[in-house]
Amino acid sequence: MRIIERPPLWWRALCPKGLFRVSGCGRTVYLTFDDGPIPEVTPWVLDCLAERDIKATFFMVGDNARRYPYLVEAVCSAGHTLGNHAMHHLQGLHTSLMPYVADIEEARLYLDTSLFRPPHGFLRPSQAKALAGRYDIVMYDVVTRDYSNRLTAEEVLDNVRTLVRPGSIIVFHDSLKSWPRLREALPRSLDWLSQQNYAFATLKSTR
Ligand SMILES: [Zn+2]
Repeated sequence: MRIIERPPLWWRALCPKGLFRVSGCGRTVYLTFDDGPIPEVTPWVLDCLAERDIKATFFMVGDNARRYPYLVEAVCSAGHTLGNHAMHHLQGLHTSLMPYVADIEEARLYLDTSLFRPPHGFLRPSQAKALAGRYDIVMYDVVTRDYSNRLTAEEVLDNVRTLVRPGSIIVFHDSLKSWPRLREALPRSLDWLSQQNYAFATLKSTR
């Protein structure tokens, strides 16, 4: 059982305020890209999406957005949606409440969005509670594990092919760590999803 790739119900229950999958959207999937933007990978991802007229949601690390504002602009002007992925990609498990929330608020200086995805896919109930009033907490239904050097590009693609379903929120990463697999797995995943008649949409803020 792939419990990282497809978070089980007990895991979802730990974060009841998080959105893991969109219901009632028909055969639509929601592509998300975490940890960018970076000049080495993000422009390539934008090209890959533009060639196919696909829109996605980019959960950016605030510190990268601060360093590369032109990439934030490029993502927005291409019609994609921004998400906040904290200023310094802190692990909620190891960070107490006040500094955790402050780090996310700091990222908001560079990222005008109320969508938030916790780094490492985890946040404590107290953190979720503190953030839920101000942010839409976006989790995930399919983790491609493109970041893992124990996987081949084919296996990353296979995670998409095996696990995707209507309403899935799918996680890729525009990061150097993912690049060796992303460069092959992303275009093949997009083409496969299109062949399967999936439509693509961006996540919307509810506030
Ligand atoms: Zn991340």
